[in-house]
Amino acid sequence: SQCRVAAIGSGYMGGGIAQVLALAGSTVTLGDVDEQTASLAFERIVKEAEAFEIAHLLDQGSAMVLRSRLRIAPTLEDAVAEADYVTEAVPESREIKADALSRISAAAPASAVIGSNTSAIPIQELAQSVRHPERFLGVHWMNPAPFIPAVELIAAEATRADVVDTVEAFIRSAGKAPVRVADTPGFVANRLQFALFKEAVRIVEEGSATPSEVDEVVSNAFGFRLALFGPFAIADMAGLDVYNASYSSLEAEYGERLASPAMLSSMVAHGHLGIKSGGGFLDIDAKDVVALVDYRNRAYVALSALRKALG
Ligand code: NAD
Repeated sequence: SQCRVAAIGSGYMGGGIAQVLALAGSTVTLGDVDEQTASLAFERIVKEAEAFEIAHLLDQGSAMVLRSRLRIAPTLEDAVAEADYVTEAVPESREIKADALSRISAAAPASAVIGSNTSAIPIQELAQSVRHPERFLGVHWMNPAPFIPAVELIAAEATRADVVDTVEAFIRSAGKAPVRVADTPGFVANRLQFALFKEAVRIVEEGSATPSEVDEVVSNAFGFRLALFGPFAIADMAGLDVYNASYSSLEAEYGERLASPAMLSSMVAHGHLGIKSGGGFLDIDAKDVVALVDYRNRAYVALSALRKALG
């Protein structure tokens, strides 16, 4: 869908977001610390798209489309002056973000919606820097933005519900998979990613495996499944009783840190064991279980073939 977008902070993420939104039909004005930086970003985004075209990662003609839909502005204020939507991707510093957001909100039309790409700063805190917190939210893209589907949407207290609806529809129309999450540190994706990474580093620290051995196990074991399912679907398929029993062994060695979560133990105690008992974390109807398992098996075989084809 078409909209006048300003991308403030046209670096790695801002450039990727600008590419996606421009290819989806919007005009995108790049604003950065100065005109030269914005201009270099313009050239970088177009050159990257040319390389993607050659590699068949983008449709032919994409770079030409970007040349016509991307603009550069000499200042942040000029970039946002006529924006319907501002995507903020300046560096992850509270001071820089607070300053950039207050300048954006002073210069943008009062009706503009501002979405911050912060990785971990609370949206409620950033909301203090804008004049219209009802039209401000977190819109957290994942790296590399052109190719990762998920975009986390994080409302602050004052964010209006219809603003979240509008942004959700806009992001979806750009081909992404927006998901609403709560304003808690790390939101959902980074919180889980960093919890996993911490345990991976512990395994290396204690000498149980090397980094490349950990990576190999993860990408060929549960990481393979994670390409298609989330942890709850995987647990429901594996059996929650199996998970609960495994936690007992883990707790015996690692203590409270890897004890069974109370919600899991309680579900098992009440006979909710996942798909085999007709009830788990997800609402999977008993009549759909055969189809789910069939999909899982076909998907894993297809994923193995894809990995082989990629080499
Ligand atoms: P980056 O350093 O590549 O880009 C930041 C850009 O902001 C640069 O072009 C810089 O010149 C510009 N800038 C600095 N101060 C500015 C100001 N006052 N006004 C306008 N522009 C300014 O950083 P990045 O990796 O693109 O990260 C940007 C944001 O995206 C951060 O909040 C980061 O946490 C978040 N993020 C990053 C990733 C990632 O993997 N890199 C993933 C998700 C979210």
